[in-house]
Amino acid sequence: MAVDYNLLRVGVDLRAIADNFRLLRSKGTRLIPVIKANAYGHGLVAVARALESCGADFFAVGTVEEAARLCPSVSGTVLALLGPQRREDYQTVVEQGVLPLVSRMDQLAQLQEQAASKDTRLPVALKFDTGMARLGFAPQESPKILAALRRYDRLTPQWLISHLATADDPDQAAFVREQAERFQRVHAAFSLAGHAPLSSLVNSAGLLAFPDLAWDGQRPGIALYGANPFHGTRLEHLGRGLRPAMEVSAPVVAVHPLRKGASISYGRTYVADQDKTVAIVAAGYADNYSRGLSNKGCMLVHGRRAPILGRVCMQLTAVDVTDIPGVVPGDPVFLLGGVGNQRILPEELAAWWGTIPYEVFCLLGMNRRVPET
Ligand SMILES: *Cc1c(COP(=O)(O)O)cnc(C)c1O
Repeated sequence: MAVDYNLLRVGVDLRAIADNFRLLRSKGTRLIPVIKANAYGHGLVAVARALESCGADFFAVGTVEEAARLCPSVSGTVLALLGPQRREDYQTVVEQGVLPLVSRMDQLAQLQEQAASKDTRLPVALKFDTGMARLGFAPQESPKILAALRRYDRLTPQWLISHLATADDPDQAAFVREQAERFQRVHAAFSLAGHAPLSSLVNSAGLLAFPDLAWDGQRPGIALYGANPFHGTRLEHLGRGLRPAMEVSAPVVAVHPLRKGASISYGRTYVADQDKTVAIVAAGYADNYSRGLSNKGCMLVHGRRAPILGRVCMQLTAVDVTDIPGVVPGDPVFLLGGVGNQRILPEELAAWWGTIPYEVFCLLGMNRRVPET
């Protein structure tokens, strides 16, 4: 998992994640922290343990394989958001007690078979598609699923789950309401059939903006890692107090002058309009620091913003340190985060990059070196 060729350092402040968890918990009833994709690059086991020590007893991971990796390290329930796909996944679900999120009929059939063969009962979570059009049963399939559950006597529908498509967009609240209504109807159908499943609809943005849709469990992901889902919108205040946990730095490996009229890096896309001093930083697209950042965005050198000059290379990037005196090789440069008040926010880096904080975290997080235990 860890790379060994780069000089990039990814730091994760677990206290910030714990603080964000506590802040979010004050707005919900029961949090199901989403730690899929290696906790958005922050480290699956380390993050889960930090959350467990502040009271989390339920975790959502990406796949059954990821659940199997986590199960030995936590005592809480582990929900696999992408239910079983491969033969061995079904075995893992039963043997490790993973709560599978089921979105297809054939998964129900195989889980029933697996539970019967082990002579056990199995709680399942059912995913309904109320508007994402990605995974899940259609709400109108409820009668068919209820009929199947009467046959599949080993399975208990413990949770009903759906996912919002537009909760972070203040201008698309109407679609959230549409999804919520469809979800409500699914819940009613299950209740009418004598089931008493718990329900969960909201992600980070939904938890912050739609307190009336909290149901029994809330599934925050991005907000746990300190990005504000409403950054730059009129609802920005809803994410106040969240603190980014990831910081990424790399050392300066050269400092030199760039004379007026001289170009720098491949393609000569930057030409100095005056005499400059540049620092070369040991980070590039091989470290998942996107080449799309060429001539865009900044790094933080001695707590000050140094604009990227020219193309980002595979393992090197040049920044302008003309106005930052005393920069020498070995100095740490922050690509994300920083020290004290001087920080590069995940939302800023994402904007320069042309993406969202989710992708920034996942990609830069791949450079983490901390061994998973
Ligand atoms: C990723 C994910 C979440 C978390 O979403 P955030 O926007 O990061 O809060 C919640 N539920 C499901 C099903 C997800 O896939």
